[in-house]
Parts: sequence; structure tokens; C-alpha cells
Amino acid sequence: MTQQPAPSRIHIAWIKYEEVKIPVVLCPTCGVRRRLLACFRLWYGWDITCLTCGERWADGQMAERPFSRGWRQESVAAAREIWKRWKSAGGKAL
Ligand SMILES: [Zn+2]
Repeated sequence: MTQQPAPSRIHIAWIKYEEVKIPVVLCPTCGVRRRLLACFRLWYGWDITCLTCGERWADGQMAERPFSRGWRQESVAAAREIWKRWKSAGGKAL
């Protein structure tokens, strides 16, 4: 029996963002100024993810925390992937 590679736990849905930026602002969870990934979608508003603690806010409300181990690291990895794709697309809408 061959061993299968562990499935990736990072799930990224490719959503069309109108704007993506990384401001340095106060993260309420960290309690200090941090780099946050801010993505804007029409009709949905801003989706913000702290690049340090992985906490998310959607349109001003704190998003529900997943009930799984390592969700903070996965959230940060997903946010970094969105930023990488945004930069590789030349800052155009994803
Ligand atoms: Zn934070």
C-alpha cells in the first residue's frame, strides 16, 4: 500500500476582489499595530485578516473562529496567498 500525501488543509476560494492592500493598523486581538490584509468585494465590503494572529473581520464584524487546530496559521497562509496572487496579477481585480 502506498502512502498518500496528507491533503492540504489550506482551502482558498478564489473570490473576485476589487482592491487588496496591507495597512498597518491596530489589531484588537494582538493589541498592537500589525499588518492586516484588507480585501474589498462589491456588495460584501472589506474582509480583513491579521497577518500575525490570523483573526478575520468581515464588513466590520469579527468572523467566526473555526473549531480546528491550526486555524490561525491556515488563515495567515490563505491571506498571504491572496496577497501573492494580487501582486502577481499586477494589482488588478482577482
Ligand atoms: Zn492580530
